[in-house]
This record gives sequence, C-alpha cells and structure tokens, in this order.
Amino acid sequence: MPIQICSTCGTSYPDTPVPPSHCRICRDERQFVPPGGEVWTTPEKLASGHVNAWRLLENGLFEIHTHPQFAIGQRALLLRTAQGNVLWDCIALLDDATEQLIRVLGGLRAIAISHPHYYTCMQDWARSFNCPVHLHAADSEWIMRPDPALCRWEGETLEIAPGMTLLRLGGHFAGGTVLHWADGAEGRGAILSGDIVQVAADLSRVSFLWSYPNMMPLSAHTVRRIAETLGCREFDRIYGAFPGRQVTSGGVHAVEQSAARYVELLSSQQP
Ligand SMILES: [Zn+2]
Ligand SMILES: [Zn+2]
Repeated sequence: MPIQICSTCGTSYPDTPVPPSHCRICRDERQFVPPGGEVWTTPEKLASGHVNAWRLLENGLFEIHTHPQFAIGQRALLLRTAQGNVLWDCIALLDDATEQLIRVLGGLRAIAISHPHYYTCMQDWARSFNCPVHLHAADSEWIMRPDPALCRWEGETLEIAPGMTLLRLGGHFAGGTVLHWADGAEGRGAILSGDIVQVAADLSRVSFLWSYPNMMPLSAHTVRRIAETLGCREFDRIYGAFPGRQVTSGGVHAVEQSAARYVELLSSQQP
C-alpha cells in the first residue's frame, strides 16, 4: 500500500488502504483545509506529474523546487561541504533524478527541518540516504509518520556539521528553527530561515507570523526575542522558504529593522 500525502500541505501519512479522514496539519489554524475538503495523493501519482528543478544559489548551495508547484511550494536547500552534504527543509517529491543527482554529489550527511509544514516526506529522504533528520522536540506532536531516522533535539542550539548550527527561534511553531551557515555568503555567514523568519516581497525586509495563510501575527515580545537571538550571530544573507526570496546582503540589519517596525506597528495607537 502506498503512503498518503496531503495535497494541500505535502505532509505524508502512514500507508493505509484509504486516505486518513483528515489532515491534522491542515486542520490547525496555521494551515487551512480547501473548500472541498482534503485532497490526497501518493508518491507515484506525484512523480507522474511533477519534476524537481535545481538552481545554484551560491557556491555550495543548491535550491531544489518542485514544478509545477505542489502543496505549500517551499524549496529544499542542499548545502555542500567537505564534511558532507546537508539538506535544509524538505519537499514531498523525491524523484529518481533528484535521488541520483544527490548520490553523485555524495549523498546526505543529515537533514534538518525548520518546522512541521516542511516535514513532508522526510522519512523517505532519510531512508534513501541513510541519514538522520533533526527536528526540534518541541514540535513532536506534529510528526504524523514516526520513523527511527527522526532525531528530536532539545535546547536552543545544535551544531549538526562544522559551521552549521541549528538555532531554535520559536514563533510560528514552538520548535521553529533556522540554520546558521558560517561559511555562507563567501564567509560572511548566512541564515537559512524557512518561514520562521520570512523573507518579504521587498527583499530587504523580513517578517514573522503565527499563521501565514490566515495572516495572524506574533506578539511583540516574541518578535523582539527572535531578533535578539539572531542579533548574536554574524550573517549577511538570509535564504527564505520560497524561490527568489533571499536577502542577499545586510541580513543582520534587515532583521533588526523589520522587527523594530513590526513591534512599532503592533503597539501604535493609530486609528
Ligand atoms: Zn495537510
Ligand atoms: Zn509554516
């Protein structure tokens, strides 16, 4: 029997003869159920109508994105280092071409994921490359398909490879995580942010929300804390969750200014 994938969020569920009655991720207010109810697919059906496209974003960093867009539409990022490759965030489609290309590039040392919206088919990626998946333990309740490869980490930071450190920021999800890549941006440092720090349409700004589809904000306290945590790190670039969404320089300034303006708007008394 095939595993079942929710077409709205891309989350995979255990193999069953019929799809689940509902998707827990989509029933949460940080996602949504489409007007006609949940729609389900399988890995085979997904692969028959979609392909993954690759783009080199900078030396050692590939974007992998599914076309036509599927579910939330995020990209996965493949980081290449002398110590092995790391996949940041995940997508539902692991097609034959992607699997072979990653093998040629040396396989995967680890997978790390920012938050449950991008868990997708992480279990299948982990099995294909025989590597662990690092998830923050605070989001364990959102794991819909348990697997021995899933490693739950606790605390505020975890170095998963030399110069690659997971930072728990919370906010959008309690375990919301970004990856600090010390060698990124030609050694000036980069943050891979998922939608824990969302790169905005104005590529010099970022934002922070509790629910993106339902446009619900975070508290001023939380946004201030996220900005302060990131303020302790050196980075110039921020790679967001979606193709084209990156702050190419001035990343620290973008977080500081965007967070300050966000807090100002939340606390202003304007009519
Ligand atoms: Zn769903
Ligand atoms: Zn999300």
